[in-house]
Amino acid sequence: MSETSIVSLLSHLPQGQSTVPVINPATGKKIYDLQQLSAEQVIDAVSKARDYQPILAKTGLPQRQRLLLNLHDILLGSDEKLMDLVQLETGKSRAHAFEETVGAIAAASYYGKISVKTLARRRTRAGVPLLTKTYVDQVPVGVVGIVTPWNYPLALTLLDVLPALAAGNSVVQKVDNQTALTALFARHLAIEAGWPEEAWTIVTGDGETVGNALVDSVDYVAFTGSTATGLKVAQRASARLIGYSLELGGKNPMIVLEGAKPKRAAEIAVSGAFSSAGQLCVAIERVYVPKSMHQEFLTELTKQIDALEVGRSDDFSTDIGSLGGYVQLQRVSGYVSDAVANGAELVVGGHALPNTGPYFYAPTVLNNVPASAKLYRREVFGPVLAVEPYDDLDDAIDQANDSQYGLNAAIVGPVKLATRVASRLNTGSVNINEGFRASFASMESPMGGMKASGHGRRNGPGGLLRFTETRVIGVAGGLIRLPSRAKDYEKMAPLMRIMVKAMKLFS
Ligand code: NAD
Repeated sequence: MSETSIVSLLSHLPQGQSTVPVINPATGKKIYDLQQLSAEQVIDAVSKARDYQPILAKTGLPQRQRLLLNLHDILLGSDEKLMDLVQLETGKSRAHAFEETVGAIAAASYYGKISVKTLARRRTRAGVPLLTKTYVDQVPVGVVGIVTPWNYPLALTLLDVLPALAAGNSVVQKVDNQTALTALFARHLAIEAGWPEEAWTIVTGDGETVGNALVDSVDYVAFTGSTATGLKVAQRASARLIGYSLELGGKNPMIVLEGAKPKRAAEIAVSGAFSSAGQLCVAIERVYVPKSMHQEFLTELTKQIDALEVGRSDDFSTDIGSLGGYVQLQRVSGYVSDAVANGAELVVGGHALPNTGPYFYAPTVLNNVPASAKLYRREVFGPVLAVEPYDDLDDAIDQANDSQYGLNAAIVGPVKLATRVASRLNTGSVNINEGFRASFASMESPMGGMKASGHGRRNGPGGLLRFTETRVIGVAGGLIRLPSRAKDYEKMAPLMRIMVKAMKLFS
């Protein structure tokens, strides 16, 4: 993207109190300075969004559905530019930017197809047939606040913003400071598709300042980020009795079953653990492998990792890109050194790649990580995989479940047995013979976590319904009136008894 286009996108942000430099992680060079808004500016943006929301709601569901389908085509026509921006801001490889972009675009067609069906007024079974009728409306909550992290700036934007708009809400999105351009460009394309400018506002700035002001003024908050921040958001939202969804961290296990092929298991572990350099909430961080296959699995992993191309490229010539920046590099190297100092065996990797770029880190495998190492339980959020042999499958399942998190899990091996094991894992998704993509790519399947990995789900019809309030309309009338005096009840009692029996029979 040219410098002029970047300046033009940034011009949509108001002048803030200060600016912060945004660095291209793959090169370490500054891309631009980003405005940092004050709490008052955020409150003002929410107030304008609230004034506009009834106008948006009046456009009607069918029109908003058309706008989403329109946007789908426009996003697809700009996919190369979207990938360029995702790479520029995150440092990920073209392959992973491609995966993110196509996944994100699917949100437009999915909600473009299901919004009317999911949200249109529906008739429900009346409590007292012949005497009453009931309908259910799903109405927009008002202004939806969306908070997005830096690692999947396009997907995590569209997966939440589009259903919120489809339901007739206006949106104020707080993007991470690292990835404003991707979201600004997606919004620009939405306007090109016919969405009114006022429907979707983007605010930028410090997490606490802008995030708190947003959570304190919107009518619903959809948050994606770390569990620590999610907890703060939940407490603030609860204090105002507004609804919220939280998509948080994970410490995602993979179980390799007896009968799995070590080479295939290693391939699945590599793509599951190192996509977007492991900076993915659903990435695999720990693998439990049968003792009988342990050495062969480690040898396969090492061979496949040695063959990976780690580097910077705007085409499909590299497998793995950079970490997201200095903080990420410090975090990942800190976790690895701590694990090694505590006695974990370093199988491969375990070091930065300064000759490749300032924040590149080698894909790393650790073996037999002791419980005293910090990464044994904590989310690394980087290209680091811990391997642990097991004797007994029940024990491996217990270890997989022994976590504060419950986001994603993977199982490799015969599908019948894997399916039985899947039903014993306490995670929001379980992928069989795949790391995360089989579930993650399905727009119709709810995505989210159990335990400290989240609250509520995105995607699927529920991903749309969470942005609505429910209103029931009951209509009394018809041939017979509801009783009001005691003698009316007496007269009606025999008929009511028959009706109650009939309702059981015909329900
Ligand atoms: P983070 O919690 O530090 O930041 C996420 C966003 O929250 C940023 O935009 C940040 O500015 C903002 N923020 C910070 N303080 C805030 C506050 N008090 N109120 C409101 N917003 C605030 O997370 P991160 O480190 O940028 O992202 C990585 C984490 O996100 C990892 O734990 C990862 O697993 C998780 N994640 C989860 C999903 C999912 O779908 N479950 C997806 C992507 C990332």
